[in-house]
Amino acid sequence: MACSEHRAAQAPTAGRCVIGVDLGGTKTAAGAVGADGRVRFIEEIPTLNRAGGEAVLDATATLVRRLADRLEADGGGPVSAVGVGAAGVVDAASGVVISSTDAISDWAGTNIATGLATRTSLTASVINDVHAHALGEAWQGAGRDAGSMLLASIGTGVGGSLINNGIPLSGARSVAGHIGHIASPDAAGLPCSCGRAGHVEAIASGPALHQHFLRLGGDASIRDARAVCALASEAGAAGQDSTGHRAAVDAVTTAARATGQALGGLANVLDPDVIVVGGGLAAAGPLWWDPLLKAGRAELMDPLCDIPIIGARLGPASAIIGAARHAFNSQHTSDGP
Ligand SMILES: [Zn+2]
Repeated sequence: MACSEHRAAQAPTAGRCVIGVDLGGTKTAAGAVGADGRVRFIEEIPTLNRAGGEAVLDATATLVRRLADRLEADGGGPVSAVGVGAAGVVDAASGVVISSTDAISDWAGTNIATGLATRTSLTASVINDVHAHALGEAWQGAGRDAGSMLLASIGTGVGGSLINNGIPLSGARSVAGHIGHIASPDAAGLPCSCGRAGHVEAIASGPALHQHFLRLGGDASIRDARAVCALASEAGAAGQDSTGHRAAVDAVTTAARATGQALGGLANVLDPDVIVVGGGLAAAGPLWWDPLLKAGRAELMDPLCDIPIIGARLGPASAIIGAARHAFNSQHTSDGP
């Protein structure tokens, strides 16, 4: 079934573990995950991002088999399936990467599901990595008790996913969730990674925040968003009121405001039970969170004023857990209703 958003996922039943894989542009992490969501053994390898899709699948299959063998040797029984959360736009029905950035060369067109199934002899299923992140939080993290959850992941890029009854909304063309690519007043005229201009990601991602800091006259020796946030957190203390400090505060505030405004507007469209915010910038503290919440709440229609906007809880394992949940969901689908 290509578009599964009208169904509700069944909770995994006790039994075999699956392997969840978080396949990103720089690293691939995998873990054995039980039906209770507990993760046993996590291993990580560098993604062979210049070697092409087939080489990436070779290395991923080796990692999956190693974890499966380790689980079996540990008495955890044979693994029943592998689920992958992968970078790029992924057609979950076929397991094929439809499009991707150049983070992994020759990635578009790769059939991850068939490629891994052939190499591992396991049933394989695939979703986009942000959907996997969201599915993990919805199953075991900040959205655990929610029927519907909008997740925003704010880091190198700005991504999102709407989970409804345990299933991510993939959309008619597998593109749903690209919350970074809606218009933002704070980003007017700024080039976006998608080739257009004025989108949320062009002001709110980590690299965009850093670029904005430089445009405001910030010191070029401050190399990334994390350093800008650290500088901003010093501002206001005695002797810490330089142009650089003010530029850092302005860049962080603007990025957070653009994120919050977008999330508030999306809440008006989607009315989720909860909004969960993760990704690297979510660790930036009140300097980022306060303007995000203020801007988000300012957008909300009155009946939505109490909607919780909270931080993600699972950390780096969330996409592994979510990819595993997708594998469990797929098993139920193939087993029939
Ligand atoms: Zn864009």
